[in-house]
Amino acid sequence: MLPLVVACSAPPSSSTPKPNPTTGSAAAAKVERPPSKPPKLVVLVVVDQWPQWAFEQKRPHLTRGFGRLLREGEWHTGQHPSAATLTAPGHALLGTGEPTATSGIIANEWWSRDAGRVIRSVEGPDGTTGAHNLRVPALADAIAVANNGAKAVGVSLKDRAAILPLGKAGLPIWYDKTTAKFTSTRPPAWLAKLPPIKPRLDEPWTPLDAAKLAQLSGTVDDQPGEVGEKGFGKTFPHAAKQTKNPLDAVYAMPLGNELVFETALAAIDGEQLGADDVPDLLVLSLSPHDYVGHGWGHESWEAWDMMLRLDEQLGRFLDGLDAKIGRDGWALIVTSDHGAAPLPERIGGGRIAYEDIEDAANRAAIAELGPGKWVVNAKYPNVFLAPTTLAQKDRDVAVNKIILALKAFPGIALAAKTVDYAGNCEQRTGDAFAICLSLDVERSGEIFYLPKRGWILEERDQRFATAHGSLHAYDREVPVIMLAPGRSPHPTQTAPSNTTIHMVRIATVLARWLGVTPPSTLARQAP
Ligand SMILES: [Zn+2]
Repeated sequence: MLPLVVACSAPPSSSTPKPNPTTGSAAAAKVERPPSKPPKLVVLVVVDQWPQWAFEQKRPHLTRGFGRLLREGEWHTGQHPSAATLTAPGHALLGTGEPTATSGIIANEWWSRDAGRVIRSVEGPDGTTGAHNLRVPALADAIAVANNGAKAVGVSLKDRAAILPLGKAGLPIWYDKTTAKFTSTRPPAWLAKLPPIKPRLDEPWTPLDAAKLAQLSGTVDDQPGEVGEKGFGKTFPHAAKQTKNPLDAVYAMPLGNELVFETALAAIDGEQLGADDVPDLLVLSLSPHDYVGHGWGHESWEAWDMMLRLDEQLGRFLDGLDAKIGRDGWALIVTSDHGAAPLPERIGGGRIAYEDIEDAANRAAIAELGPGKWVVNAKYPNVFLAPTTLAQKDRDVAVNKIILALKAFPGIALAAKTVDYAGNCEQRTGDAFAICLSLDVERSGEIFYLPKRGWILEERDQRFATAHGSLHAYDREVPVIMLAPGRSPHPTQTAPSNTTIHMVRIATVLARWLGVTPPSTLARQAP
């Protein structure tokens, strides 16, 4: 079991400190201790793709919601355990306390050998949406086991971000871009009564204050590397109506965050969260922050504008919690599923398209095995071989040639056979330990690769300003701000503490506040 904290400063870009079970145990015990007076509502806010470095840059200018967090909470550096710094593995980890090696969530979507096609992380064998692929219990499952009448709700624009922190139980609510309405696996009646979203898409996203954005960001609106997102161009204004699919464009607008906050507050009323003394759970995931990062980068006007607006939105949401639950009635953690790289232009990196990796891998296999489609998928961090490739006598030679072809990319730091790194993670150290935690023995591809510092992966028809998915600190280090039960205000915290929180422990802290058995403990008790 990994300890909650290690007493170390930020780790170097690509190394994994071996968890030391003796350091930081006092802090761990303090945070994980069950509260003397349980909260009525436990809230997890996931700011999707929120690197610690980007928050540190913007923090002095965020005085409303984030200001309150830093006056009432404790700000630490969270460290994600593996190279699976992606949305679905990150959200699964936050809810289960388990990295990919145990959760089984290897990416947002992956090649399924059983299905013979790419499946989504929250797609079941029958095509339905749910936590079928999650191998371990998550927070709503832990609440269900406790059988104490508590409720669990997850709200996000993305289905996977609503579902995976909860698990198979609970009420996940997400945005359906075909109808511009929130939906669920089990839609409650109140959901259909929310005000319509479509008319709000008519209003373009314009800067709060363009001169201020220029000053804060220190750059122009179309700095090198920006590509736009969801049909929006590189520069303001961003009008959803002028994109190909306005209902989809909301994923990359501050309005998307607003909708999640509004729906979460509506869920408190609709589901009577926090209405009795048994602590309920509410998980919010703010996906637009991820899309804005991908489209324009964290140094952009768009990222600054979204964060200034998020500061206000978060402040209003916290006011809403006060009004509905009472100031002392709720506890909250704000953190992220993963970080992101600075713009590659700023740190001497570059971009690689998955398709180029797949092509190179396939050409290497053709040189050994003859014409054919030998590689079926090469989306980070996995390379999957076709079943026919696996049946070849010369398969191992071909695999070695593929690995050499991947290593020839200027932006690839490591390519290796999965069997050499997967399984028995506790017996490995350093980067090998972190890599092991990123791989599922059954589901991962036969080969995996990791990018060099500053290099990001994208698709040929889905260019990114920046991205995430690596072992580097910019992807693994995220803010963790904890507003524990029974807290009292203090002077604004202006820098993260010296404590590094292992992100696998977040689920345990939330479970303690909820008064239920942590999901990780349940996972180890399972027959
Ligand atoms: Zn992302």
